[in-house]
Amino acid sequence: MLRPIVRFGQPGLHQPAETVIRFDAELDRLIDDMIETMYAAPGIGLAAPQIGVPLRVCVIDLNGGKNPADLLVMINPEFLQREGMQLEDEGCLSVPGFTATVPRPSKAVVRAMDRTGQTRVIEASGLLARAFQHEIDHLEGRLFLDRLRGLKRDLIQRRIKKLQRAGKW
Ligand SMILES: [Zn+2]
Repeated sequence: MLRPIVRFGQPGLHQPAETVIRFDAELDRLIDDMIETMYAAPGIGLAAPQIGVPLRVCVIDLNGGKNPADLLVMINPEFLQREGMQLEDEGCLSVPGFTATVPRPSKAVVRAMDRTGQTRVIEASGLLARAFQHEIDHLEGRLFLDRLRGLKRDLIQRRIKKLQRAGKW
């Protein structure tokens, strides 16, 4: 089932999510809905707080579902290692219409559980390392805007406020 994606300014997006404890049918349904919603958007990643669910779950697929092996479901993910730095343009389904250059680690190692509760360690570089950092930030209540320097962030936030006032957000 497609779920509406919440946008910048809505409270669930700006607070830390909770650790997943129960691997049950409800979690399975949530994950299926997140995958469907990510592909439909379309986006390359989605975190549960973006559909208003305060749990530490995110899904990532850099190839839009073309190859099932590229789909990553990460539950309770945590960084084991981060190194290097990359600067690329980045956007977010919760901040539609805006992109900015965001500093991110160029390599990352993440430990996470899959939907069966099995722990996996995943190494990534480039775009995937960036996606890991972006999605795990969501689980901490942080958006890419929060990683920007003051001026750029203020500019985007002012434009969003304008859209909000106009009822276009
Ligand atoms: Zn995002």
